[in-house]
Amino acid sequence: MNTKGILVVVSGFSGVGKGTLMKRLTEKYGQYALSISATTRSPREGEVDGREYFFKTQEEFEEMIREDRLIEYASYCGNYYGTPREYVEDQIAQGRDVILEIEAQGAYKVKKRYPDTLLLFVMPPDARTLVDRLSGRGTESEDVIQSRLHRALEESLMAEKYEYMVINDDLDQGVEKIHSLIEAQRDKIKLNVEFVQQIRMELKELLKGE
Ligand code: 5GP
Repeated sequence: MNTKGILVVVSGFSGVGKGTLMKRLTEKYGQYALSISATTRSPREGEVDGREYFFKTQEEFEEMIREDRLIEYASYCGNYYGTPREYVEDQIAQGRDVILEIEAQGAYKVKKRYPDTLLLFVMPPDARTLVDRLSGRGTESEDVIQSRLHRALEESLMAEKYEYMVINDDLDQGVEKIHSLIEAQRDKIKLNVEFVQQIRMELKELLKGE
């Protein structure tokens, strides 16, 4: 059977509640490792370097690009964001499922490089809920909120290329939905060809003895 971990990309509009979903998912199920991205954006209040993100200067980030230490990176609302390679590859090799909470440009790059990646898009129940959640967060200025809503409009087009959507209405239901989609990905025949071959060999052996 496939013993490597599954790589999962979770995207969704800013303010849709991906962070809360991921927090609950990883608390509930021990098999998931959440990748921590590098970014050039400034920390928000309460954010800690090495916990939410690795906060980098533009120069440091560009050095990571040059040294090929990122599996993907993208520019989002004026800042760089990227996924450090080493952690992801180590965890997958050890059989843990790795979740990347990244935006769509990065998601496509990851899918191209690792075609067995599962692409999930978290949707709000409706657009008004998204606006309310963004304003209610209280951490962003009106300008930033507007820029994120414009970005959401663009991302709604990019979402059409994802494999599954998860509507974030009820938190626990959303968590269960994501967990079951990942479990289903693990059982894909494509990821278990060796197991099928093994059964075929066993059948041949059994038939020889007849
Ligand atoms: P925020 O500034 O709200 O934390 O994140 C802004 C956007 O950047 C979100 O859509 C988030 O998913 C995305 N993001 C976070 N880390 C990465 C990353 O490593 N790569 C890419 N491509 N996007 C990221």
